[in-house]
Amino acid sequence: MFSNWHDAIKRILISFLVLLLAGWLVGEPALVVLAGTLSYLIYHLIQLRKLYNWLRDADFSEPSPPPESKGIWGYILDGIYLLQHRERQALLELKSIIDKAQESTAALELAVVMINNRGGLEWWNPAAEQLLGLKTPKDKQQLVINLIREPAFIDYFNKAKFNRPLKLHSPVNPANMLEFQITTFGEGERLMLVRDISQLHRLEMMRKDFVGNVSHELRTPITVITGYLETMLDDKKNLPARWIKPIEQMAQQSHRMENIIRDLLTLSQLETRTSSKQQSAIQLCSLLREVKQDAEQVFADKQQSIKIDCADDVYINGNLSELYSAISNLALNACKYTQPQGLIDLTVTRSSQGLSIVVSDNGPGIAPHHIPRLTERFYRVDESRSADTGGTGLGLAIVKHVLARHNGKLEISSQPGKGSQFTCQLPTERLVEAKSPDTEHPRVSVES
Ligand code: ADP
Repeated sequence: MFSNWHDAIKRILISFLVLLLAGWLVGEPALVVLAGTLSYLIYHLIQLRKLYNWLRDADFSEPSPPPESKGIWGYILDGIYLLQHRERQALLELKSIIDKAQESTAALELAVVMINNRGGLEWWNPAAEQLLGLKTPKDKQQLVINLIREPAFIDYFNKAKFNRPLKLHSPVNPANMLEFQITTFGEGERLMLVRDISQLHRLEMMRKDFVGNVSHELRTPITVITGYLETMLDDKKNLPARWIKPIEQMAQQSHRMENIIRDLLTLSQLETRTSSKQQSAIQLCSLLREVKQDAEQVFADKQQSIKIDCADDVYINGNLSELYSAISNLALNACKYTQPQGLIDLTVTRSSQGLSIVVSDNGPGIAPHHIPRLTERFYRVDESRSADTGGTGLGLAIVKHVLARHNGKLEISSQPGKGSQFTCQLPTERLVEAKSPDTEHPRVSVES
């Protein structure tokens, strides 16, 4: 580049000197230099015109070679031609990548939909037409919430909290179940992935039905067995001595089985019933007093101190029997796993994030690696300790389900050797400002 440029300057200077010499020889140096400069200008104008014509007629998808030129102009034209060529190469590569991406998304069973920052549809693959009934090109730029009109979807889309997928019946075929997952990218654009989970959903429903039905069918036989075993134990003196221990063990195990079946049924009802059922304004304080009374009765021999810290005017909107079951599960666990004379606190606090019901104890605590798994069904920290205490391993799974049905969540923190804290976090929307006179607190179970 520099050598070309230096050559050009050198040539101009030499031409100027030659013209000056020639002008001096003919006695008209100024005229000759002027004539030379004019022809130099005309030469450049001709080159500029060539460049202009070439660029005007250029087809960028198929660039034609530049007009023949020498010197600096040849270099400029070749440079532009090279740039055109490179740009074309890059365009071809980009096009091939886009073609491949489109081909691969066309082969996907997963629906892929690109949504712009106004909520309009930009692009979608063929699976989206099948699963969501989108029409090309009619639906382009249409608002997605005008095409998928299910209120749950509109709410999900507008709230823009996409950390969890949304499950919905297909707008095309309500017998099918779809899972929507949205991620944001660029400047407010969204990528929506939709997959058909009908098969999975059917299996999940079958599993729930199976667990529900089996638990239901087992309940009566177990109740009968437990009943007979207890009747036999009531009349211990007429039993052969060698039968007393086995019958006591049978009664203990059948009690355990009864508890497992009761908890499995509770879980299955929580999974299958709609959450809007039996909502009422619940006075939290009075519910906690019920829980405390129950726990004190069940664990009377442990002589633990259960303290309640809750303002009388806190009312929450929810399902009384479910919330009772959740909080009592936590309180009974606290008593169960805490040593005699231990301290258990039931505390209610309100904050800008909502309401927290904290059940804390100064028991043995839980090692950190167990905490993420505690709400799994049948997960126990210490199998032998749980069996001793008659635990089913389902209590915390029930608590988690109940809270999810109240748009809340369970938070667990613990320090081994110092104690545990189970916090039921409920959103502000659950708080009821005015007191409700019709609130009662009978002893209830979720089945009621
Ligand atoms: P379980 O019926 O066995 O109590 P849960 O689901 O209620 O089942 O609890 C799961 C496990 O969590 C228990 O087995 C126990 O090891 C542990 N756990 C629950 N609450 C406490 C607590 N307050 N202190 C110590 N460990 C606890």
